Amino acid sequence: MGRIRVLPDAVANQIAAGEVVERPASVVKELLENSLDAGAAEIRIEVESGGRRLLRIADDGCGMLRDDAMLAFERHATSKLSSVKDLFSIATLGFRGEALPSIASVSRLTLETHAAEESTGTVVEIHGGKLIRCEEAALANGTILTVRDLFFNVPARKKFLRSDQTELAHVASLVTHYSLAHPDKAFALRSDNRELLNVTPVETLRERVFQVFGDQTLEDLIDLGGHEKELPLPEPVDGERSRVFLLRGFVSRPQVQKYNRNSIYLFVNGRLIRDKLLLHALTAAYHNLMPSGAFPFALLFLDCDAEEVDVNVHPSKTEVRFRHGSWVHDFVRDAIRDTIVQSRPVSSLALRAEPQPGARLPYSEFSQRVEDAAVRFSLPIVRDDAQGVQEADLPMFTLQAAPPPPQRFDFSEPAPAAPKSSRIPDTHSAMPSGVALDSFDSLGALKDLRPLGQLHESFILAAGRDGLWIIDQHVAHERILFEQVLRQRAAGSVEKQQLLLPIVIELTAAQQIQYAVIADELRLSGFESEPFGNRTISIAAAPAAVGAGEIEKILFEILENSEKELRGASLDEVRRNVCATIACRAAIKINTKLDQRKMEWLLAELGQCEHPTNCPHGRPIALRYSTRDILRGFHRI
Ligand code: ADP
Ligand code: MG
Repeated sequence: MGRIRVLPDAVANQIAAGEVVERPASVVKELLENSLDAGAAEIRIEVESGGRRLLRIADDGCGMLRDDAMLAFERHATSKLSSVKDLFSIATLGFRGEALPSIASVSRLTLETHAAEESTGTVVEIHGGKLIRCEEAALANGTILTVRDLFFNVPARKKFLRSDQTELAHVASLVTHYSLAHPDKAFALRSDNRELLNVTPVETLRERVFQVFGDQTLEDLIDLGGHEKELPLPEPVDGERSRVFLLRGFVSRPQVQKYNRNSIYLFVNGRLIRDKLLLHALTAAYHNLMPSGAFPFALLFLDCDAEEVDVNVHPSKTEVRFRHGSWVHDFVRDAIRDTIVQSRPVSSLALRAEPQPGARLPYSEFSQRVEDAAVRFSLPIVRDDAQGVQEADLPMFTLQAAPPPPQRFDFSEPAPAAPKSSRIPDTHSAMPSGVALDSFDSLGALKDLRPLGQLHESFILAAGRDGLWIIDQHVAHERILFEQVLRQRAAGSVEKQQLLLPIVIELTAAQQIQYAVIADELRLSGFESEPFGNRTISIAAAPAAVGAGEIEKILFEILENSEKELRGASLDEVRRNVCATIACRAAIKINTKLDQRKMEWLLAELGQCEHPTNCPHGRPIALRYSTRDILRGFHRI
């Protein structure tokens, strides 16, 4: 007898489940897509324990006929595809007919469905791929799918699931994405009886963005409107086919910078995807407008003829392949870039390569922007010049709408192809570059430093036993505060300020979950906050170190960073992140004049630090030009 056998269906289904069902959020994705394909106008999702214990999706779509309800659990059973030809023009979200049998093979699943054409509905229950019951039932039109105990029979998979909160965060982010793609439908998401999202049908994407993110986010976004472009095809196509690509959505102004890709939502023909080509087009649109390593917020909807895009590339249908990839790439890049450039007057930092004279900004606004930039500067952006800065390479600060004021720094990345600033003569090439302080041998020297003054009101110049030191005042203070907050935090004695009026802030569904995860940590770090109605929290007290005007920004920053960290971080990392954010916001900004006493104080405090060499984000604090290097530079040795 031969050795090859055809796998029993149960095994094949579990193998397919490995590809389609990775975690609760992937189940939600498949079921949501089914509900949308079924023409639902209202979709309600309920989860317990991050979806491990229970996931329920109820829709008011077309429902299934009795016979179909059973057939739906056969492998490759689908109502959406009938021939190979259809495969090349897929208009529905589902088509592989794999989701239901896969999910049913790794959970305890109950399907309750009723199609309007029949007088009663059907209940089907399947546990681990085994049919438990199938009977008639009186049900409202539509479908309710309940998935309990996901992976109960696949312990190996179950082990890979993360904490309930992390799984819930993935589910919430997914539902949020789909609600954005379908403003005309109602979505509700509840987790353990808490309402995380509840949006009613609206007419425009803009209104939906407002429902989901609140007006603060909306202010930071640019509406792409509708960019249309026809694909110029050399080969003849039949007259019926549309070759028009349509790009809609929102992108953030360049000054809004995210430190991960979590705020990039890409949809192709209504399907949520992760696509390198589109991601690249998006980043290319921001080239020179944003530091590398930072990401925009983007909500992009690309619609095109189904034949222009192959969705059958990956079992979870999250990847696509475009027939004319590079054309699509350039179309998307240019459409976004044009929109950003047109809405330029509101943006603060200019392209260094093409400075434009314009009206002078009022000082307060100007200095606020400088401060904002300083704060961004100190976040973990990959910088080319983090080590061994040579002055000639330091770009000057230019503002879009104002003539460049002297002695201020540009916090944007040096553009790769941009010419060197011509205002600083390049006479320093013979000067040896400073060395970032990293050896502990030199630390003792910190105590003996004598501040000489400031450079550009941003860097303290100091004479030391062993040469000339340049200390970044913001980063140095950040380190001092960071260690102080950590110490106070460990001793349970963080200094707090009670706010006159509590600050109420709106959160997105995903942020609300992050908030729940780190609420304890926030409290211990000095934030007194509590949930306040639907997706809002109120803050009654904050760490004393931070200005009242900064509290809201800090909280959003902490939530955003912790979202990134959640994926694998220990509580300790979350704690460090909270403390680092507070320190960064509270630290002396660059472009701030310091008197002699303040400089002395700063250097003395820095000398007391446990790790005075690098800021919490890893950037160097001080550069040293050794006496030897200086002597060598003057050809004295
Ligand atoms: P696919 O979506 O790829 O067709 P699925 O396994 O997800 O495969 O679903 C199988 C079939 O079950 C679908 O083609 C559809 O006919 C039916 N179905 C699934 N979910 C629903 C729903 N919520 N409402 C109506 N029909 C559904
Ligand atoms: Mg499906």
